[in-house]
Amino acid sequence: MTAPASIGLAEIGKARNAIADTILTTPVSVSPELSARAGVPVHLKLEHQQITGSFKLRGATNAVLNLSDEQRGCGVVGVSTGNHGRGLAYAARRNGVRCIICMSELVPQNKIDGIKAQGAEVRIVGRSQDDAQVEADRLMSEEGMTMVPPFDHPDIIAGQGTIGLELLEQVPDLETVIIQVSGGGLIAGIAAALKARKPDIRVVGVSMERGAAMYECLKAGKPVLVEELPTLADSLGGGIGLDNRYTFAMVRGLVDDMVLVSELEIAQAIRHAYWQECQIVEGSGAAGIAALLSGKVRPSGPTAILLSGGNIDMELHHRIISGEDVDVTGGGE
Ligand SMILES: *Cc1c(COP(=O)(O)O)cnc(C)c1O
Repeated sequence: MTAPASIGLAEIGKARNAIADTILTTPVSVSPELSARAGVPVHLKLEHQQITGSFKLRGATNAVLNLSDEQRGCGVVGVSTGNHGRGLAYAARRNGVRCIICMSELVPQNKIDGIKAQGAEVRIVGRSQDDAQVEADRLMSEEGMTMVPPFDHPDIIAGQGTIGLELLEQVPDLETVIIQVSGGGLIAGIAAALKARKPDIRVVGVSMERGAAMYECLKAGKPVLVEELPTLADSLGGGIGLDNRYTFAMVRGLVDDMVLVSELEIAQAIRHAYWQECQIVEGSGAAGIAALLSGKVRPSGPTAILLSGGNIDMELHHRIISGEDVDVTGGGE
């Protein structure tokens, strides 16, 4: 297996030193229930307990710390309504860098408030993500701001990869890891770290059935457009970019298997996380548990599942854990 890109242990180790002061080393806990089901020890990496509620803080912090003095002076811009926006806003404020997050008019108020609460300026433009991107491009070209992308960037991938180094120290006999996949920065970084240290580790990616962009691109053998659909795993939505430079090649080279989980399986996993593990996890963060509970991943040897995020609407969470049949898909395909 070839390591396709230039992000490896050197970059990830550097990122780890750089971000050590700002991020939490998140705990790992054994799940007795999942271990019994799987017949192997199953460890949960509680990254939804990271500051800002997701691992995105790692990559964003690394990206902000790698800015030149001139770039720091001009500030950063992001286009994200979710966890990347929160992480970037926090990382920028923490380092005294101006941050503008662009989003469309259609974004719900609670998401806007979540990002404002981390100290970013929010700029609301147009009625789609594309309109927000146009404003971000303008801020780059006219005001010299630096765009920090959510996944396809070496600093981001190296930042997310720090989870892999932590995990191997916490579970030295690790043999299988299950990681959620959207744009692929998370799994690319973690797989690069793990396989550099322990080449035989099996890395399994999980996405939702509805709009599994990376999965479709791997099948097509190149980045392709994939329609975004409403799903409980909303943080896993969106494409990988037709001009993808890093994550597609890394995922293709480093990830051993990809599985897809249904809306029902995701809901079940959110419920399991709450009732069996005492963890509040968003749909995207629970997809790894869904992959195991559904039997779609059969782990061999000590296994880790990453709980990647915890930012879920509390009303939605309450309905799911109460056993309600929640359908966010609008009854569509
Ligand atoms: C962004 C995100 C992912 C996927 O990360 P990628 O690097 O885009 O693959 C998984 N889980 C949560 C909670 C996220 O916010």
